[in-house]
Amino acid sequence: AVRVEDLHKSFGTLEVLKGVSLNAAQGDVVAIIGGSGSGKSTMLRCINFLETPTSGRIIVGGEEVLTRPDGSPAKARQIERIRLSLAMVFQSFNLWTHRTLLENVIEVPVHVLKVPKAEATRRAMELLERVGLAEKHASYPAFLSGGQQQRAAIARALAVDPKVMLFDEPTSALDPELVGEVLTVIRDLAAEGRTMILVTHEMKFAREVASHVIYLSEGRIEEEGPPEEVFGNPKSERLKQFLRTVG
Ligand code: ATP
Ligand code: MG
Repeated sequence: AVRVEDLHKSFGTLEVLKGVSLNAAQGDVVAIIGGSGSGKSTMLRCINFLETPTSGRIIVGGEEVLTRPDGSPAKARQIERIRLSLAMVFQSFNLWTHRTLLENVIEVPVHVLKVPKAEATRRAMELLERVGLAEKHASYPAFLSGGQQQRAAIARALAVDPKVMLFDEPTSALDPELVGEVLTVIRDLAAEGRTMILVTHEMKFAREVASHVIYLSEGRIEEEGPPEEVFGNPKSERLKQFLRTVG
């Protein structure tokens, strides 16, 4: 569903991504691991066009997206459309604070996708039910725990029925006792065959849910493969060292 080829990204003179490629086919769960500053978030942000790649190719659902924007309205519309098919859940809670959970979940379906409000509401309640928050639908984010907010953010991401879900360390801002409930929701999504690209520092979780693991180091893919290989039989010294420090 998503293919990235030879992606480069620089910020000024700082070259953050030095030619990374990735393929997430239908139902794949690709986990991206690596040390702080290795370029994991930048890679996800490029896939979602929150950053403009310096060069490379990004193909979403068979459609190549121009990585260099030409400023044309057609190009802007294409990026809008692609972004809607790639829902992203961030590290810190990015719900709209002045809206209830239900309002958060129906916002994009109603105002962007023009889904009738009654239908969007019905669907949103189903999604909130799935993440265990139906009874909180009228609450504002500030009254919820971090884990609840993050589960609501996942419900909101699901509301656009994305082709691919992107997660950037969705549990790293949570208190340890709240991590499990969020991982459970993500694990269920993986089990139902959702295509996902997941940046995580939860190595046990990556090993369990991922179909493919990418280890990034200084903007390059140092090693990648099935989780049994990457975690069970790492080849590169850097990866071995990394796994010792996080494990
Ligand atoms: P972490 O595990 O800490 O989240 P990461 O692997 O996600 O790290 P990135 O956030 O992708 O790392 O950052 C990679 C490098 O790019 C860092 O050196 C960072 O300072 C730099 N960087 C990221 N975004 C920008 C930006 N908008 N402008 C300048 N430099 C940036
Ligand atoms: Mg990051």
